Amino acid sequence: MNAVARRARVRVTGTVQGVGFRPYVYRLAGELSLGGYVLNDAHGVLIEVEGADAQVDRFIARLPSDAPPLAVVEHVLTEDRPPRGDHGFVIRESVGGELPDAPITPDTATCEDCLRELFDPADRRHRYPFINCTNCGPRFTIVRGVPYDRALTTMAAFTMCAACRAEYEDPGDRRFHAQPNACPVCGPSVRLIGDSSADDPVTATAGALTSGAIVGIKGIGGYHLACLAASERTVAGLRARKHREDKPFALMAPSLAVAEALISVDAPARALLTGPERPIVLAPRQPDAPVAPSVAPGAPELGVMLPYSPLHHLLLADVGEPLVMTSANVSDEPIAYRDEDARERLAGIANLFLVHDRPIETRTDDSVVRAVPRRTILRRSRGYVPTAVHLPGAGTARPLLACGAELKNTFCLARGTHAWVSHHIGDLENYETLRSFAEGIEHFSRLFAVEPEVVAHDLHPEYLSTKYALDLDGVELVGVQHHHAHLAACLAEHGERGPAIGAIFDGTGYGLDGTVWGGELLYGDIAAFRRVGALAPVALPGGARAIQQPWRMACAWLVASGIEPPAAWRPIAELARSGLASPRTTSMGRLFDAVAALAGVRSEVNYEGQAAIELEAACDFAEPGAYPIAVGGAPLVIDPRETIRAIAADAAAGRSAGAIARRFHRTIARAAVEACVRLAGAHATEVVVLSGGVFQSRLLLESVSAALTDAGLRVLVPERLPVNDGGIAFGQAAVAAVSLA
Ligand SMILES: [Zn+2]
Ligand SMILES: [Zn+2]
Repeated sequence: MNAVARRARVRVTGTVQGVGFRPYVYRLAGELSLGGYVLNDAHGVLIEVEGADAQVDRFIARLPSDAPPLAVVEHVLTEDRPPRGDHGFVIRESVGGELPDAPITPDTATCEDCLRELFDPADRRHRYPFINCTNCGPRFTIVRGVPYDRALTTMAAFTMCAACRAEYEDPGDRRFHAQPNACPVCGPSVRLIGDSSADDPVTATAGALTSGAIVGIKGIGGYHLACLAASERTVAGLRARKHREDKPFALMAPSLAVAEALISVDAPARALLTGPERPIVLAPRQPDAPVAPSVAPGAPELGVMLPYSPLHHLLLADVGEPLVMTSANVSDEPIAYRDEDARERLAGIANLFLVHDRPIETRTDDSVVRAVPRRTILRRSRGYVPTAVHLPGAGTARPLLACGAELKNTFCLARGTHAWVSHHIGDLENYETLRSFAEGIEHFSRLFAVEPEVVAHDLHPEYLSTKYALDLDGVELVGVQHHHAHLAACLAEHGERGPAIGAIFDGTGYGLDGTVWGGELLYGDIAAFRRVGALAPVALPGGARAIQQPWRMACAWLVASGIEPPAAWRPIAELARSGLASPRTTSMGRLFDAVAALAGVRSEVNYEGQAAIELEAACDFAEPGAYPIAVGGAPLVIDPRETIRAIAADAAAGRSAGAIARRFHRTIARAAVEACVRLAGAHATEVVVLSGGVFQSRLLLESVSAALTDAGLRVLVPERLPVNDGGIAFGQAAVAAVSLA
């Protein structure tokens, strides 16, 4: 040996367990002729390597850069140790004790290597719908407990055959310690219920789909309902049976090329479509997109995803055209995921069921992401959960739980700097979702070893998530105002503490004064806030019914603006005037509803946000105008009464809905920009946070953020967590953590 022997201890932190990191280290050490060991412990991966000086340097240099695809290396710390004369390199048993910070990774789309084998007639897993390896496959949805080991997954009942076992135990193999490893001999299998004569259930399913069937398909996180996207008769039939009148259906395209025929795909959208998370990507629909009108009536965008499980790949390859692939549920119930329950609930909807015998432990919907003009997550679930989001600074001094909001609920558990935001639970308005919520919290507590001592909750006393928090014994409670949670979530996600101006526009949030807030201008940081402005308040005639019936809001705004509503609306106008059953609201979402009704776009809705979505879709982009709107006072008030009077005049004069819609969007954008610029000046800050469900509008978000940037302000928008109420839990956690510091 001509080189001096050197030994180094290397500590790697981040997402480095359950992602093939140890075999990767084993191979790298072997390649560089280094001795030593690698093991998992509570902090991540610990390595000692020994050998020629230059080789140790190479090892340290390549360690982060050549890491396996699912690994996220956060830190590599190196220190020299006295050489011991090790020559061989070994993978040592894990060291127990406290739990790692990232024990479970998200479900990941089938990798290129597995896809090649899937379609290779010579491979032993040719057309096997459960092929996976260390770099891909189910994770979060099959985990029952920790440590992440086959016995604690829903694969426990399947005993590996000799061939699979050999792969599993070989550190040089791509399937070394791949917990869901399986093959046609030993693993799960699919079955077509409703056509037991089928030789190949996947081919038979593809045939049935092609001839117009609606099929319930068990996937990774639950059941989908699938049918041909191009067949109007079939899609309309699915809508009728599912009791879903207008809410857009998601699509699954067999290839990127087909996806590009459906939606406009630029580089960021392409990266999302083909990435390991495989969300539903929302993008503007192509004018001649080959889909039935009933797929997404009135929506300017389509939601498209590419196959993410081997079963999807086989099915889509056989069908060769886009499928509607919508969560299997009736109306607003949560996605079905247990076999008996799914078949019972979906019996009147699906003609056939393509099922399998690998149980789903945690129900997980498809995630929904928009790539442009900014990356915006509308639903964060499969593919993203349970990756931790970091709390800023030192994180939380005590383990905590944040219970989230009522609609689009997620919860969040946190310890130290790690916050685990749950999968999308849904609207906490029925027994099924509430059970998912409570079971989910218990599951996350076990997986991430968080025994909450502090519980954060919304101020709304009637939210089921609030009631859940108030019913817990022996914990310290922290109430967090809804819009402050939006502001704090966005600041914390970006690693900032504020202060900032927050323009938080959404539908409903319980205000500090007990009224319904929703068009809020806040000045504050993660710890505290002041309400420095808001939309002018108006009556919410009939309370919650006004949310389903935008014409009621139109009526309320006409009354507030001094205009006599049409005769048919008179009883509601009286209600609004009297204040009976009509709480006051500053909701921006409800103002959009009112204008949608006044413009003749929509007077009743079938799903949340529908009126605003269709109002945006109606915009005539050739229209250059805007309406007057008053922005002034202290606290600042955005008063749209002049706007409403002008819209009423335009509507009476027969001006098109497209022109009214475009003018209104421009008006609100200008008002928001003017308010933020003024407030930022008054409070000597340069940071503006835009959040809340109203900013799910592509047009509004882009126009406001561009104008604020032009005005020299720094604009923060939620990117890793939903801009809607799915981001509330993380914001509550951030506020509670700071309150403990
Ligand atoms: Zn793979
Ligand atoms: Zn096998």
